[in-house]
Amino acid sequence: MRIAMISEHASPLAILGGEDAGGQNTHVAELSAALAAAGHDVRVYTRRDAVDLPVAVRSADGYDVVHVPAGPAEPVAKDALLPHMREFSRWLVDRWRGGDWTPEVIHAHFWMSGLAALAASRQTGVPVVQTYHALGVVKRRHQGVQDTSPARRIGYERELGRAVDRVVAQCRDEVGELTRMGVPRSRMTVVPSGVNLGTFAPLGPTAEREDGRARILTVGRLVERKGFQTVVRAMAYVPGAECVVVGGPPAGLLETDPYARRLRALAVSCGVADRVRLVGAVPREEMGRWYRSADVLVAAPWYEPFGLTPLEAMACGVPVVGTAVGGIKDTVVEGVTGDLVPARDPRALGAAIQGLLDDRIRRFAYATAARERARRRYSWAATAERLVEVYGDVAAVRRPTRVVA
Ligand code: UDP
Repeated sequence: MRIAMISEHASPLAILGGEDAGGQNTHVAELSAALAAAGHDVRVYTRRDAVDLPVAVRSADGYDVVHVPAGPAEPVAKDALLPHMREFSRWLVDRWRGGDWTPEVIHAHFWMSGLAALAASRQTGVPVVQTYHALGVVKRRHQGVQDTSPARRIGYERELGRAVDRVVAQCRDEVGELTRMGVPRSRMTVVPSGVNLGTFAPLGPTAEREDGRARILTVGRLVERKGFQTVVRAMAYVPGAECVVVGGPPAGLLETDPYARRLRALAVSCGVADRVRLVGAVPREEMGRWYRSADVLVAAPWYEPFGLTPLEAMACGVPVVGTAVGGIKDTVVEGVTGDLVPARDPRALGAAIQGLLDDRIRRFAYATAARERARRRYSWAATAERLVEVYGDVAAVRRPTRVVA
C-alpha cells in the first residue's frame, strides 16, 4: 500500500530526549520501518524545522521522510504549531494532486497531524487513520494551569475522533478516555505500539557499572509528568542502589537545563545526590546498552498514554517497577513481569524497588516473563500487520471529496 504518515512535530530522524522528542518519534520511525520491510511504500511527512533540510530523505530503513514547509524553518514548540497546520495540509494537497504519488491511506500521529490530515482528506478523498499518542483531557487533568496546549485542543480531539475513518487506541485506558470524550467505540481499534526486538534484547553490549551497587534505571524526556522527582525521592528508601536517569538534553547541556537542575537540587536535599546520576540524551541505537546494565527499570509517570520505555526494558529482560497508569497497566503484568505502584508516591515506589532488589529469584522470574511477553505480543512486525488490516478496511471505502473553504 501507499501509506502517508503525518507526524507534524515528531520526525523519525530526530535526536530523542528533548522536551518534544520521544515516544512518537520512535513509534513513527519503527512503524514506518516495519511497514517498509513488509513491502509497503511509506512516506513520512514532518515539519521542516531547519533551513538545511532537503525536501525528501530516504531513511536507512527504506521509507521516505518529507520535510513540509509550514511555519518557520526552525524549531517551534509543539504547543505553538497549530497556526501552521493549514499551510501543512495545503502543501500536502498540492503535492498529492499535482505529483505522481498519492497515498491510499493517511495515518496521522497526534491531534494536530489529524487536523492537517482531515483537511487534506476532504479535498483528496484519501481516508484517515488517527493515533493520538496523548490526549488533551488527560494532560489538562494532571497538569491543570501548567498545560500549555492550545485551548481548543480537547474540542478538536473530540471532533477528530468522530470525523476520521478509524481511531487507533494504544491501550485499554485510552479506549476509556476516548469513550468518555464521546468518540464512538465502533470507530476504535486497539493496536499497541511495538518494540524493536533486535535493538532491545537481553544479550549485547552493556553500559559500565560499579561492582556491588544495584542499578535503577529511569528513562524519558525530562518533563515533570514523567515523575523523575518521585524516583529521586524514592531513592531515600533504596539505600545502596544508584539511580541513572537517561534523557533530556545532550550531557553537555544538562548544567543549563532547568529541570535537570531541579532534579539535582532535589537529590541533594534528599541526601541521595551521590547515588543519582543524570547522563542526558542517549541515541536510540545505544539505549539497549543502558537497559541491559540495569537491575530494575523504573517508570514513574503521573500518566502515560502508552510508555515505550517499560516495554523496551522488558524486551531486554529487565523487570519493571512502574506506576499503575495508562499503557503501563497493559504492558506490565503485575506480579509476573513487574510491580505496579500508585503514581506520585515515593514511599510505595521505594518499597517496591527495594523489595525486588532483595529478591533475586523474583527478579529473575520477572525478567524471563518480561522478555517473553515483549517478544510474543509486541513485535513491530505484528503491530504493522494489524495496522495494514485497518488501512485496508478504511481504504476499501473511498471518502467523498469536497472543497473546504
Ligand atoms: N529515548 C531515547 N533516548 C533518550 C531518551 C529516550 O532514545 O535519551 C527514547 C526511548 O528509548 C523511547 C522514547 O524515547 O523509545 C520515549 O518514549 P516513551 O513512550 O517512554 O515516552 P514519550 O516520549 O512518548 O512520553
